[in-house]
Amino acid sequence: METIYFDNNATTKVAEEVFEEMKPYFCGLYGNPSSMHTFGGQVGRKVREARECVAALLGCEPGEIIFTSCGTESDTTAIKGVLAAQPHRRKVITTRVEHPAVLAVCRDLENHGYVVAELGVDKQGRLDPVELQEQIDDDTALVTIMYANNETGVIFPVEEIAEIAASKGVVFHTDAVQAVGKIPLNLAGSGIDLLSLSGHKLHAPKGVAALYIRKGTRLSPFMLGGHQEGGRRAGTENVAGIVGLGKACELAAENIEDENTRVKYLRDKLENTILERCPDSRLNGDRQNRLPNTTNISFEYIEGEAILLMLDRYGICASSGSACTSGSLEPSHVLRAMGVPFTAAHGSVRFSLSRYNTEQEVDFTIDKMPQIVSRLRELSPFVAK
Ligand code: PLP
Repeated sequence: METIYFDNNATTKVAEEVFEEMKPYFCGLYGNPSSMHTFGGQVGRKVREARECVAALLGCEPGEIIFTSCGTESDTTAIKGVLAAQPHRRKVITTRVEHPAVLAVCRDLENHGYVVAELGVDKQGRLDPVELQEQIDDDTALVTIMYANNETGVIFPVEEIAEIAASKGVVFHTDAVQAVGKIPLNLAGSGIDLLSLSGHKLHAPKGVAALYIRKGTRLSPFMLGGHQEGGRRAGTENVAGIVGLGKACELAAENIEDENTRVKYLRDKLENTILERCPDSRLNGDRQNRLPNTTNISFEYIEGEAILLMLDRYGICASSGSACTSGSLEPSHVLRAMGVPFTAAHGSVRFSLSRYNTEQEVDFTIDKMPQIVSRLRELSPFVAK
């Protein structure tokens, strides 16, 4: 059975070209990029090239990029680094729908005397920047708001947010882990001060990521030790991973058009047909301002997990909006923040596509979904028989 992979917001396949580019940096070119000798120097040069590729995709200077180990590390480095650099300010503003990589850090700050304001979203998962205007004050050190939501794909008005933050002299960080490689971004002329991205969401391997730090932004290093990354992140570089991330960024730039036309067409076909053919289904999230690859659909009266298990029998990978915590299924905090009714939040499934998906895969899934949904409803105690 072939795998049909519609879970690209969880992680992506490493592109063959990326893997090929990385290979020499394990057994052959294994020198330390910080070494004085020629052997290490050629590795250092390749790291520099990779930094240029990341910067080219984002429209920033190579010196504004540091490499980290994951999106979570980039987020933590940004949040804690900004706060440590201005200890007199004690307020942070974020949203209720952030990834835990941001939300858990912010909530922990409350245990350390910080005031954290979490902005809400409307039924479509949209954020109203006016709420930020009302919350931001002289005590605010940082605004950290995601670029695009990992569960619904909803894109936030980050440039407008950046402008509000800048007008108050407040640093703005955005978690763009789901946006980079899927939609065009340009940091030249942007008001964003810090931006996180993660390799494994854009066809680079797991274990490598980056943080954009706009020139002049005050940030205390989170990892102390050696002088790597201009003293902003200690630790010997994951050279092969960094080389892979550079190549993945180069490919992302080449494929961004395809992502926003063909991948979007496939997503729309999958979404529209499922909504049409499955009664009592609904789309979660703003239909307009959305990543081109993501759809989040709720099916009343049945559990998202049950749908996933049935899809899995056909080799189809997707994910659900619930997190299995301590034996009970908690509906997603994102869908709850959007006011999605409990029953619909429990029955949500996220399909996230990539440039490697085909129309045949979409057609196969469209064919199976109505059968799966009606079969589960036959078994559901919530459906009147
Ligand atoms: N931020 C967002 C929006 C994400 O979707 C993820 C991962 O799913 C992360 C941060 C964490 O990235 P990583 O898995 O590289 O730590």
